[in-house]
Amino acid sequence: MPNVTINGSPVTAGDGCTILEAARSAHIDIPTLCWYPKLPIVGNCRICLVSVAGNDQLMAACATPLSEGMVVETESSDAVKARREVLSLLLERYPTDRLAGNSDRSENEFEEYVARYGVRPRPEKERDLKLRAGDERDGDPMIRHDMSLCILCTRCVRACEDIQVVGVLDVAYRGERAQIIVGNDGDPDKAACTWCGECVRVCPTGAIFEVLPRERFGEHRFTAESPARSVCPYCGVGCQIDLHAKNNTIIRVTSPSFDEVTPNDGSTCVKGRFGYDFTSHEDRLTTPLIRKGWEKRSGKWVWEGKSGLERRGGPWQSIEAEAIQPKPKAPPRAQGKRLRDLSILERSAAQIANRATTPKDWYEPFREATWDEALELTAQELQRIWKKSGPDSLAVFQSAKCTNEDNYLLQRLFRAGFGTNNIDHCTRLCHSTSVSAMGAALNTAAASGSMREVEHAADVIFVAGANTTESHPVFGAALKRAHVRGAKLIVADPRWTELAKRADVHLQMQPGTDVALFNGMLNHIFARGLEDRDFIEQRTHGIEKVRQAVAPYTLEKTATLTGIAEHLISEAAEIYASGPNTSTLWAMGLTQHLKGHDMVSSLLNLILATGMIGRWGAAMMPIRGQNNVQGASDMGAIPFVYPDYQPVTETANREKFARVWGVEAESLSLKPGLKVTEVVREDSPVRGLFIMGENPIISDPDIAHAEAWFHTIDFLAVQDLFLTETARYADVVLAGASFAEKTGTYVNTERRIQLSEQAVDPPGEARADWEILVELSNRCGLKTEFDSPESIMDEVSRVAPSWTGVSYGRLSGGGLQYPVPNRDHPGTSYLFAESFPTKDGRASFQPAQYSDPDELPDDEFPFIMNTGRQLYHWHTGTMTRRSQGLDAIEPIATMEIHPDDAVALGLADGDLAKLTSRRNSIIISVRISDRVARKQVFVPFHYREAAANLLTSPVLEPHAKMPELKISAVKIESVPAS
Ligand code: SF4
Repeated sequence: MPNVTINGSPVTAGDGCTILEAARSAHIDIPTLCWYPKLPIVGNCRICLVSVAGNDQLMAACATPLSEGMVVETESSDAVKARREVLSLLLERYPTDRLAGNSDRSENEFEEYVARYGVRPRPEKERDLKLRAGDERDGDPMIRHDMSLCILCTRCVRACEDIQVVGVLDVAYRGERAQIIVGNDGDPDKAACTWCGECVRVCPTGAIFEVLPRERFGEHRFTAESPARSVCPYCGVGCQIDLHAKNNTIIRVTSPSFDEVTPNDGSTCVKGRFGYDFTSHEDRLTTPLIRKGWEKRSGKWVWEGKSGLERRGGPWQSIEAEAIQPKPKAPPRAQGKRLRDLSILERSAAQIANRATTPKDWYEPFREATWDEALELTAQELQRIWKKSGPDSLAVFQSAKCTNEDNYLLQRLFRAGFGTNNIDHCTRLCHSTSVSAMGAALNTAAASGSMREVEHAADVIFVAGANTTESHPVFGAALKRAHVRGAKLIVADPRWTELAKRADVHLQMQPGTDVALFNGMLNHIFARGLEDRDFIEQRTHGIEKVRQAVAPYTLEKTATLTGIAEHLISEAAEIYASGPNTSTLWAMGLTQHLKGHDMVSSLLNLILATGMIGRWGAAMMPIRGQNNVQGASDMGAIPFVYPDYQPVTETANREKFARVWGVEAESLSLKPGLKVTEVVREDSPVRGLFIMGENPIISDPDIAHAEAWFHTIDFLAVQDLFLTETARYADVVLAGASFAEKTGTYVNTERRIQLSEQAVDPPGEARADWEILVELSNRCGLKTEFDSPESIMDEVSRVAPSWTGVSYGRLSGGGLQYPVPNRDHPGTSYLFAESFPTKDGRASFQPAQYSDPDELPDDEFPFIMNTGRQLYHWHTGTMTRRSQGLDAIEPIATMEIHPDDAVALGLADGDLAKLTSRRNSIIISVRISDRVARKQVFVPFHYREAAANLLTSPVLEPHAKMPELKISAVKIESVPAS
C-alpha cells in the first residue's frame, strides 16, 4: 500500500494502483479522454499528463503505477501547458462552429475540458475533414455517428469489444481520414451490432449519439438536470438506469457511473437504454374505463348489455382471427427483413399500415369512467361473486412487472379480504418448475449466488436452455467476459445461440431430452469417480437412488436419446465436475416442458453430486425472466405461500398474517389456491378475475381456448398501462402507472432488492398501482392504511423473515441481497455455505427418468416449434412494440428456419409461411438462420398478429402446472405473396 502525496495531500492507495486511480480515490480530478473505467488502458491522448517529483518528463497518470513516496502535481504549469497543447491539436480536427454550446449533441466532456483550460480554436488550423463530416446512416433508428466530432480516443471501440464483447466497431482508414466504422462497411445490422448504446455512453464528444431524444422529443442538448435512479423494466438482470425527464416525459436514459455498485456496472442492453418511450405512447390509458352496458340503478351497478359471446365482444377480431385472416382491405403485411431494406419513410408507412388492425377500435365497447365509478363497480362485483359463490370463485393474476409493494398489497387483499389463495402470476409460465424442483431438493425458491461471482470467480459456466445474450443481455455480456478471462463455457441448447458459438462445448440436443443428457453426464461422472464424496456424505441424502436412476444412461444410450456425440457428453461431464468452481445457469429452455420439473431436478442432481454450490464461484442460478418475477414470488403472489414462502397450509402462518392484517384467522384459507393455468380452464370454478399487468390472452398456451374461457366469466377487472389484448375482455379497466411513474422496489435474479424512484407523474388520471390497491382494499372492506410505498415495505419487513433488515433507507446504491435478517446485516451474496434450509440442513437428490415430450413430430406435423424471446422485444410486446427504436429494428414476427429446410420448402428470406400445429395456424415471415437445427423452427412469442401461443399445447407439467411451451409439432406451408 504505497503512501504518496498528490497536490500536497497524503494519499494511500492499493498495490498496483495507477496515479489516476489513487487521485480518483482521493476525489482529485485529473482530466481523461482515452481512459475510461473498466477499459484497457491505451494512454494515447496524453491529456492526463502530470508532474512527478524527480522526473524531468511529464507522466501519463492513467498508465503510471504508484511507487512509495511519490510526489505528484496534477495541475503543475508544465502539466497544464501540455494539456492545453493536446486540446489545441485535437481542436484542429473538431468543427469550431460546434464549440461553446453550439453542439446539439449530448454532454460533451471534450468541450468541457476545452473550456476549463481556456483553449481557443484556431480556425486557420482547422483541417478540411469533409471525408469525416456529417451524420452517417441517417435512417438508423437509435444510434447515429457524426464523425466530424470524433477525436479518435477509441473508447467506443474498446467498450464494444471489452465491456459488451460484441466488437463491431473499429478504426478504419489512416491519417486524417481515420474514423470509427461499424463492421466492414458501416452497416450495423450486417456487423451484428446489438444497439446496446455502450458506445453512446462512453463517447466524450457526442460523435456517436442517440437519436430518440432529438427526433421524438425535440430535445437537443442535455443540461445537468438531476435524473431519477430507476430499475430497467424488462429482464431479471435488474440493471439500474437514470431517467431524465422534461415536461413530465422521459426523454433519455443514462447509466450510473462505474464507481457506483450496481448489478450492471452501469451497462444496459438496447431495451434498457432505448426502450423507455412506451411510457409516453399515445395508447397509454389516462382514465379508468367501464364496459358499456354497466349502468347504475338505485345505487347499484347492473349489467344491461348483451349476453353470450357478444357480452365481451367488440368490433375487433380475436387474436385467432387476426393471426390467420387479415381483415378484408387490410394492406399487405410487410415481410421479414425486407422491411428493413425500405427507406425509413417507407418503413414507417408500412408499419402504420400493419397496424390497421390495432387499437383504436378496441375502445369502442368502453366508456371513460371516474375512479369512483370504476372502483365502486369493481368492489361491488368482487364482493357479489364472493358472497354468492364463495372464495374459490375469485382469482387474481398479479404482476412480475409491478413493484414488491404493489404485489404485496394485491395478495393481501385477496387473502385477507376474500379468503382465497387463487393468487398467481407469470412465474407459472417461466420458472415454476424450477421453484418446484428446487423446493423438493433444497427447500429454496431463488438463486444461490450472484451474477458477479459467475463473471469473476467461476472456472466453469454451464448454461442450460438459456439464450442469455438475447434474453438477459447484460448478464450475457458478463458471461462472455468470463469466457474471455478464461472460464470454460459449456452450453446445452438445441439452438446454436451466440453463447453456443463461443462455447468450449456445445451440447446441441434434440429438444426435450435434457433429463437424458444430465443423467448421462452424471453417470459418466460416477464412472470416472469425479463426484464430490465429502459433499455428498456431509450435505445430502439419497445418493444411492440417483446412482441407480442414472446407471442406464451410458454414453451410448445418452447419445442415442439426445443426438449429441458421446465424446462431447463425456467432455462436458468431466469439465463440469472438475471445476474447481462450476456455476450452473438455466432458464426457460429447461423449464417450459412437460418434464420441466424433472429436467431441473436432474440438473440439481448434477450440482449436488459434484458439490458445485455454496461457495463463491459455484452459483446455482435459475435466470429470472421479468424484472420482478422474483419479487412477486417473494411477496406471495403464488397460490401456496404467504410472503417469504411461508406455507398457507400451516396454521401458525395463518395466525401470524391474520394478526398483522387485522382479520380473523379463520378468514384466511388453509387450502392452496389455483394456478394461472388451472384458472383458465373449462372446469375452473373462477367467475370473477382481477388482473394486474398481465396479458394471458397472448401468454397463455392455446390462445383460442383462453379466449373462449374469458368469454364465459362473470366479471373481469384489468389494471394496466394499455388496453391490452386481455383488457379488451374486461368489464373495468384501471389505468395504472409505469415503472417511471411510481416509487417502489424490485428484486432481480440474484435476490437483490433495489429501489426505483418516481421520475414523472402518471399520465392524465392514471394512478400509481399501490394507490389504486389501497383504495380498492378499503372499498372491499379490508382496512388498509398505507400512505406510501415505504410504509408498505415496513410491513413487509415485519412479516418476511428474510427481509427483516430491509428499509428504504438501506436500499440506495446497490440495494440489498436477501436474506437480510437484521438492520445491521449487509445482505447475502451467496447461500448454503454451511447448510441448506431443510429440516436437517441437507439437500436431497431427486431421481428423474427421461420420457418423450407430449408432442413428437410425425408425417403430418414434421417440424418441432420452439418459442422464446428476441433481443429487441419483451414478452407480449405491450411495451417494446410501443418503443420506437426497438419496433423499428424488429417490426414484424419472423420464424427462424434452417437453410436446408427453407430450400426444401421453397422458402426465401422474407417470404410468408403458414405454420400449423394440432391446434391452430398463424401466418409469419420467414428468416433463414443456421441458429436452428434442421426440422426445428423458432417462433418469438411477442407478436399478437402471429401469436405463437395459438399453436402451443395446453398440456401441463404435473408438479408446477407449467405448459409445454417449448415443444409443439407443426407443419409449414408457403403462402403466396399475393
Ligand atoms: Fe434491462 Fe435486462 Fe437489458 Fe439490463 S439486461 S437493460 S435489465 S433488459
